[in-house]
Amino acid sequence: MEQSIRGFSFSKMFAIGQTVQQVQGETMTNAIIDLRSDTVTRPTPAMRAAMAAAEVGDDIYGDDPTVNRLQARFAEMCGMEDSLFVPTGTMANQIALKCHTSHGDEVICDANSHILHYETGAPAALSGLSVCGLPGVRGIYSVEEMVDAIRPDNIHCPQTRLVVAENTHNRGGGSVWPLDLLGEMKVAAHSRGLKFHLDGARIYNAVVATGHGLADYAKNFDTMTCCFSKGLGAPVGSIIAGPRDFIQKARRYRKMFGGAMRQSGILAAAAEYALDHHIGRLADDHANAELLTKLLGECAELEVEQGLPTNMSYFTVRAGADAAMRLQSACREKGLLFNHVGKGRCRAVTHLDIGESEIRRGAETIIDAIQS
Ligand SMILES: *Cc1c(COP(=O)(O)O)cnc(C)c1O
Repeated sequence: MEQSIRGFSFSKMFAIGQTVQQVQGETMTNAIIDLRSDTVTRPTPAMRAAMAAAEVGDDIYGDDPTVNRLQARFAEMCGMEDSLFVPTGTMANQIALKCHTSHGDEVICDANSHILHYETGAPAALSGLSVCGLPGVRGIYSVEEMVDAIRPDNIHCPQTRLVVAENTHNRGGGSVWPLDLLGEMKVAAHSRGLKFHLDGARIYNAVVATGHGLADYAKNFDTMTCCFSKGLGAPVGSIIAGPRDFIQKARRYRKMFGGAMRQSGILAAAAEYALDHHIGRLADDHANAELLTKLLGECAELEVEQGLPTNMSYFTVRAGADAAMRLQSACREKGLLFNHVGKGRCRAVTHLDIGESEIRRGAETIIDAIQS
């Protein structure tokens, strides 16, 4: 069956993709270069082997040894009491919001956050929450902004319950929160009776970019999430960590939201494999994004965002949104994919299927297309 997005043939792309897998390790000269997201990676042969070999059981009965091992390991890695494996990062965040709040409460986050933009209105739909988005800079807000947004104790107002930080920050360009600021934010939130949650979909990118440990970040939060299906390269899976009673409550809402699974050890095995083999290599993704930023920076038609610390490169086509969409389709014709996020601003994300040669070829494709 032919599926296409704006005329681009996916069956053709997958056919080429399969050729890439067959010749992995050899030159991939004509392969698609997919910089739309770090979610587009396919599990490596070694990851697939780990999945195939996983010992499994029915996880709803608590019987899956691979899931249990992953949850215990992740909780220990972040220094929290317990953790829970879930299908997606969206579900991880939404379960956390549900557990921390009651209908009619308010959540504070930044105005560009994933929970506000990309989770289909779930805070309102699933938990009856209003969300207060702070302006911030690259997704990072100040303690003062946060404290100013807390509602007074007044019957006219929703009750502020929870503060959320996203690290690294997607729409902020893969930006990283300063550790000290997170510590101050936690104190400010706790002293006012609020909980502090981390959307850590890409927390390992922050860990690798800064050299701080996962636990150094985690200790500033009541609860946190992490995605295995982004830069870590697993096909499916995210996790929520927090206190034992919170995770017990989360287990109930995971069932309610339809995310409790049976022999999910097959998926947990991919996550374990990613924790064993794919963390350190995120440094390559960061170096590749930096290289792309540098190469595109030489193109006068683009305004390239400098100093982005992790696996994203953002550039704006100076001629505007229509020109950006034309550039996007011209590049797609040549097998290079990236996202136009609006107003001429485009996002390219590096990941484990992208090496330095793909970056050089990708930059060349963009510059050729825009100058022709
Ligand atoms: C990808 C992402 C999520 C979760 O997305 P899913 O596609 O549901 O796994 C959550 N937060 C951020 C910042 C993300 O980038």
